[in-house]
Amino acid sequence: MAGEPQADCLFCKIVAGDVPATVVRETETTVAFRDINPQAPTHVLVIPKVHYPDAASLAAAEPKVAADVLREAGEVATEEKSESYRIVFNTGSGAGQTVFHAHAHVLGGRGLQWPPG
Ligand code: AMP
Ligand code: ZN
Repeated sequence: MAGEPQADCLFCKIVAGDVPATVVRETETTVAFRDINPQAPTHVLVIPKVHYPDAASLAAAEPKVAADVLREAGEVATEEKSESYRIVFNTGSGAGQTVFHAHAHVLGGRGLQWPPG
């Protein structure tokens, strides 16, 4: 069924507590944890607890949860005192997506170049 946990998905395992993570926030529908390979002083991933392969498919199927992810990204930035920050959804391997469970990268704590690479 759409949204159900996938046995081979790293982020479903983090949601289930089977893989450890440094969790900074959790809600009924989302988990936010520090990226294991940070690219900025603040680098937190916000994921929905439900499994969808990318942000757009999450938004199409469960728009409220997609909004929860965005709101939580903002809450993380506030908690980290990042007034300026970037929310990134890499989508597809050509754009650098390596984990096919929707996730927002929240990056901040340093100047961020535009356009990104
Ligand atoms: P993406 O490349 O956009 O799919 O993002 C996946 C992110 O997950 C990368 O930035 C990885 O550093 C991060 N990552 C991979 N494994 C873990 C883990 N066990 N805990 C936290 N972050 C992870
Ligand atoms: Zn998953």
